[in-house]
Amino acid sequence: MDRKEFLKSAALGVCAASAMGNLKLEAAEIRPAAGPANGAASKKIRCEKIIFPVGREVEVRMGVPDGFLNSKKLSILCAGDDGGFFDAGGEPYLKEKKTIPFRVSGSVLSMRLKFPREQRYTFLLYNREISDIRRSNYSFAARVYALDADLYALTPFKCDFHMHSTGSDGRETPEEAGIKCLEVGLDYQSLSDHSNYSSSCGLAEKFRKFPLSMNAYFGEEIHKSEAHILSLGARGGVTDFINSNKSDFDASAKKYAESLGGTLNATERQIVSHAMAEVDVVRKLGGRPVFAHPYWRLGAERIGGNFGMGINSYLSERTVDALFLKCQFDAVEAVNATTRDEQTDLMISALSDLRAQGKDYPIIGVSDAHHPDQHGKGFTVAFARSNSFEDIWESIMNRRNTAVDSPADGLAPVILGRRRFVRFTFFLLEEYFPTHDGLCSKQAGILSAMLQDENPDALMPKLKDSADAVKNLYSSLRF
Ligand SMILES: [Zn+2]
Ligand SMILES: [Zn+2]
Repeated sequence: MDRKEFLKSAALGVCAASAMGNLKLEAAEIRPAAGPANGAASKKIRCEKIIFPVGREVEVRMGVPDGFLNSKKLSILCAGDDGGFFDAGGEPYLKEKKTIPFRVSGSVLSMRLKFPREQRYTFLLYNREISDIRRSNYSFAARVYALDADLYALTPFKCDFHMHSTGSDGRETPEEAGIKCLEVGLDYQSLSDHSNYSSSCGLAEKFRKFPLSMNAYFGEEIHKSEAHILSLGARGGVTDFINSNKSDFDASAKKYAESLGGTLNATERQIVSHAMAEVDVVRKLGGRPVFAHPYWRLGAERIGGNFGMGINSYLSERTVDALFLKCQFDAVEAVNATTRDEQTDLMISALSDLRAQGKDYPIIGVSDAHHPDQHGKGFTVAFARSNSFEDIWESIMNRRNTAVDSPADGLAPVILGRRRFVRFTFFLLEEYFPTHDGLCSKQAGILSAMLQDENPDALMPKLKDSADAVKNLYSSLRF
């Protein structure tokens, strides 16, 4: 069989397999292989389940192309990202290439095996009649992930806590921003308009009438000084509260300014003391304070430098350090996709400096979208029991999350967080979120039609089915 013929039969095989019952398989896709095929091109196939528990005997099923199934010389290797090849019992082997025993029924291939530890595994299928593992142009790769029990029990939720609508300086109405969030695959979102809590409440209330997979909740971005702070999940508006209790707020900020002593200049002291007083108000209203974009650039004259127009500076490093250490923030934005230029790099180094001083901040990733095209460029993946605010925040406080900076221009995303969750997020971005986001986007289309329709109830069953497809997706991909 020549290459052209083989590819044709391979494509047909995948199509035939994808038509079978509950086994959902994507069309084979050529991509550079990682792992065993070492630089050669291999085609991607999809397993029926992609998430497995560590240490239990499980069955892995996949549909494979005819050209492979009819071969008497089909071999399957299983390689972990961490530590090379494993056999079906989960024992590592390095020199000898052991094939994993498998069965074929119809066009489905199945094997029983035990994954020895938490990581990504790649199955490499190759037909020894036509391929050679060392220079394999004719191989298929399928990827799965095995998880320890604690993470296996949770679901990954894509969240964005920071964005703007016409409730402040954003271009979209709250409703348009909310629909866009669903379209880009968010499971949780909050508007955080400047000094405006009510737009997030209005959107949450409106969306609560629909059986959506996405949870829309409360947020606000506050800035009584040049430091910007998110108030998330509060019972009320922080800016409104400060404005109606101005003398108490000023007295509190003054007290904090005095406590800061002489290491900061007057401007720096003003910024830090106001932020400290604002954080107190966020907590008083039951909210979670987050240090927003610590490294954004603002006009130098606005932070006391008075260097004239056109010069954009960060808050001084002393100010940022004091904000990190003196304010009791719950978390910091490690990724803010709108102030991207140097923010992510500086935040990585700031977090490592802080850790050296014994301060281990929880992190989030956000879009800070002001524009329809900016949604989904920065987000948080939280590994949580549900997408309620409480469960999402519990996971962030326990550092069971990643912050993702996801540029649109085809560059690889930057993923921050604990290594365990970063590794799993890489896998999810490749193998899970594209399907998840596609289903969310369908749901957004139905919701959008309903919001414009005079008789939206007719579409309600369709919306519910579409939302259930998202809600059930992760568990249906888990063994
Ligand atoms: Zn801001
Ligand atoms: Zn903002």
